[in-house]
Amino acid sequence: MAPDGRLAVKFWGTRGSIPVAMTSTEVRRKLIASLVRASGRTLDTPEKATVFLERELDFAVSHTFGGDSSCVEIVTGGKDYVLCDLGTGARVFGNDVLATRGASGHTFHVFMSHLHWDHIMGFPFFMPVYAPGNHIRIYGCHAGLETAFRGQHAAPFFPVDFARLSATIEFVRLEPGRDYEIAGLRVRPKLQRHGGDSYGYRFHMRDRVVVYSTDAEHKQDDLTEIQGFVEFFRDADLVIFDSQYSLAEATSVKEDWGHSSNVVGLELCQMARARRLCLYHHEPVSNDERIAALLAETQRLEEITRGDRRVEILAAYDGMELTL
Ligand SMILES: [Zn+2]
Ligand SMILES: [Zn+2]
Repeated sequence: MAPDGRLAVKFWGTRGSIPVAMTSTEVRRKLIASLVRASGRTLDTPEKATVFLERELDFAVSHTFGGDSSCVEIVTGGKDYVLCDLGTGARVFGNDVLATRGASGHTFHVFMSHLHWDHIMGFPFFMPVYAPGNHIRIYGCHAGLETAFRGQHAAPFFPVDFARLSATIEFVRLEPGRDYEIAGLRVRPKLQRHGGDSYGYRFHMRDRVVVYSTDAEHKQDDLTEIQGFVEFFRDADLVIFDSQYSLAEATSVKEDWGHSSNVVGLELCQMARARRLCLYHHEPVSNDERIAALLAETQRLEEITRGDRRVEILAAYDGMELTL
């Protein structure tokens, strides 16, 4: 949490459907672009090179959005940790906790959007599960919540059986549409349109609201459903939104594949008077330039369609931190 006690969010995995790694070809392309931009400059110290990199190169050249699958931390400032989903980003998060806060004595509250593989596959590599003295509470609305986690943590998928995990692990079923008080947050799950269903979460702490809404398709002709999401996003400080597809894809070839677009995300946020829209669950085929272009297109669309209130548009990347 920020020093002044505000709610914060940290993104540990932002890729949709399957984790991806940057290829040698992409690394080479970034290096060539950087070297060409740096020609004629004297960048003979790490400090000068860092300043050049931060100030003069585009994000897609100097950085990467990253390739770990869904995992977002809601930083409340309390003793317990709060996460959304356990994609491969959870592996990086778990290692960070171990390195900075020690191996044991932690409590984690995890809110699961759904049980598709890309959202649970980080759990066997989430090191806190192997340390006694850790407490992990996994919340979700699916009847098969516990079965899915036990199933992936067993032969033939994984060598260590769930029963041998040292941490105390609990599964807690939630009902959509109800408010819960958990880890200092007021939390409300909402049913979303996705294969096998998914659930979004609206988190409220003091006067700040974060909505985590991934793996959700929105039918623009279903006005009742749209209105339900406008209420769910209402006045949010941040909406983390599945924008895996372009609007053209989401309404043609990839219709009914269970994901949404940047355009629908912007419309919902404008109707809900949300303050920030964060594009999330990036398409695995998209490279950094493509995601940066999607962000720029969305920002332009927001400028053109802006009413009396601006929606700030961001694209999530692995490691991004936002204070609300
Ligand atoms: Zn997914
Ligand atoms: Zn899914």
